[in-house]
Amino acid sequence: HKCYSTVIFPEPIVSPTITHTGIFYNNEWHKAKNGQTFQTVNPATGEVIADIQRGDKADIDAAVEAANNAFKLGSPWRTLDASERGRLLHKFADLLERDATLLASLETIDNGSPYSASLGGFVAFSIKTARYYAGWADKNHGKTIPLDGNFFCYTRHEPVGVCGQIIPWNGPLLMFVMKMAPATAMGNTVVIKPAEQTPLTALHCAELVKEAGFPPGVVNVVPGFGDAGQALCANEKVDKIAFTGSTEVGKLIQQSAGVQNLKRVTLELGGKSPNIILADSDIAAAVETAHQAVFFNQGQVCCAGTRTFIDAKIYDEFVERSIERANRRVVGDPFDFRTEQGPQIDQIQMNKILGLIKTGVDEGATLMAGGERLGDRGCFVAPTVFADVKDHHTIAQEEIFGPVQQLMKFDTLEEVIERANRTNYGLAAGILSKDVDKINYLSQGIRAGTIWVNSYNVLGCQGPFGGFKDSGIGRENGEYGLSQYTEVKNVIISVPQKNS
Ligand code: NAD
Repeated sequence: HKCYSTVIFPEPIVSPTITHTGIFYNNEWHKAKNGQTFQTVNPATGEVIADIQRGDKADIDAAVEAANNAFKLGSPWRTLDASERGRLLHKFADLLERDATLLASLETIDNGSPYSASLGGFVAFSIKTARYYAGWADKNHGKTIPLDGNFFCYTRHEPVGVCGQIIPWNGPLLMFVMKMAPATAMGNTVVIKPAEQTPLTALHCAELVKEAGFPPGVVNVVPGFGDAGQALCANEKVDKIAFTGSTEVGKLIQQSAGVQNLKRVTLELGGKSPNIILADSDIAAAVETAHQAVFFNQGQVCCAGTRTFIDAKIYDEFVERSIERANRRVVGDPFDFRTEQGPQIDQIQMNKILGLIKTGVDEGATLMAGGERLGDRGCFVAPTVFADVKDHHTIAQEEIFGPVQQLMKFDTLEEVIERANRTNYGLAAGILSKDVDKINYLSQGIRAGTIWVNSYNVLGCQGPFGGFKDSGIGRENGEYGLSQYTEVKNVIISVPQKNS
């Protein structure tokens, strides 16, 4: 056991045995119908971890069929008490807890996040999310409403039906639970398509779903690529698509999900979030918060605070301290407890990041730290800081999804609101200040789904998360997240004579 801050962590399983590599539907493991497999790779070493069955349209359609059968009227799932759905989710949470070390280790070899973050962050958050929605299973009920005339009505919050859920690689386990838990708590059935870079934790969770006792067909998992995701969006027996990933693919999904039947669509997409540092803030704390806002999870966070706007009065000192902090960041073996930053997810992303860094230099921003690949094994990028970044620079506009900080100067609040909002994204924003009037003015003016005040990247399963503008549609987490997985049915009843 190692001590990480105040928490004692069990040692990781550095070479976990990979038990599940198949396609999961009807609570059974299947081979891909076309016989294809794909490799999942450890981004810290470049080594192949396992060959995974590659699902395509035929496998997606089989899983959708299983999900539809599980959703039929009178099925074991449809006739289950809501409280029992909650008990199954609690049992699933117990199993996540039992297998926490294995899940964190699988996450770390598959996506490169430091083991301390995988276990203390992602696995812990996943367990809390499963328990939170377990509690909601029998509490999200409708109303009885008086109507004019001799009528009244009551509402039922019914499940939407079969939900296709397409998830990314930057927090694979948490994304799995954030999709599956509210959907099943509300009585839906799901077909989950994990990202091709990171199938391992989703496949382990499939086995836990079965062990917890969910009936066959309620939760189905089909590993595969974008074509499998497309097949899910095209299948007319799917009632809803929930997607987390790039804005580019999100726009495609919104279109394809409306071609056959009109699927409900929720999207959690990219961002280029502003983090605004006022001159009255504690500068040491602000530098650390702004650093973590960008660099957490190797910079692979949709809500990363990648446009750091600093009051001109403290700009120079802030730049100096940010460089010093970035140069101190410990990059390396994600299983080492001292490591703060592991590898990027794959070579494609690493090269994209290095290309954007070069564009930053070419367009005239000043490279103050990092800027290059570290070593020649694995996908490591040095923590990078740019100063003198202008709004028109590509690195101030495009999502980099890597460890690259843009430091920008501002003079007035009106100016910074206008510049912060000058983007198609609207996922999140940060404000660091001690002045409550300025905080309120900024938090009302900025168009984003989450505003962090004197904090950043704080997410809780109890509060809603989602984007304005091109950052998405709908909200996940919290009570707000329930409405994305329910249809409201209004039952209107005639009475012989009304009485108040
Ligand atoms: P992506 O959007 O291409 O992939 C996300 C998921 O969608 C994966 O499961 C993928 O297989 C699937 N998919 C791909 N094409 C599809 C299609 N046409 N129809 C249905 N499903 C499809 O994201 P990516 O390639 O993994 O990363 C690219 C960029 O996306 C990143 O650089 C980053 O900017 C952004 N991203 C954002 C988030 C987020 O949390 N908002 C997460 C990951 C990536």
